[in-house]
Amino acid sequence: MLFKCPHCGDATVPLRDKIKTSLWAAVHCGGCGGRIAAYPWILAGVYFAHAWNVMWWVGLYHFNGKPVYFAYMVLLWALIEGLSVRFVPLARLRARHPS
Ligand SMILES: [Zn+2]
Repeated sequence: MLFKCPHCGDATVPLRDKIKTSLWAAVHCGGCGGRIAAYPWILAGVYFAHAWNVMWWVGLYHFNGKPVYFAYMVLLWALIEGLSVRFVPLARLRARHPS
């Protein structure tokens, strides 16, 4: 699975690097060498969803005491992470050393 580089438009970004961008890291395009990161505002929304997910299920567990809520929490966490890797768009970063 490859994602399109926002600099050159070629599908050069491997899934491994796409996951790195969801951890606020910048990666380099294998084709043109451009620096790429996830859109920060959208990524902030993903992190908000993660925080909400954890608080929601921990809160339910607090009131109802059912351990199965932690399984739901993990499932939803994986879902949010999967959606984030699939749908958060990649943004161009300016090169650190202009050539
Ligand atoms: Zn590129």
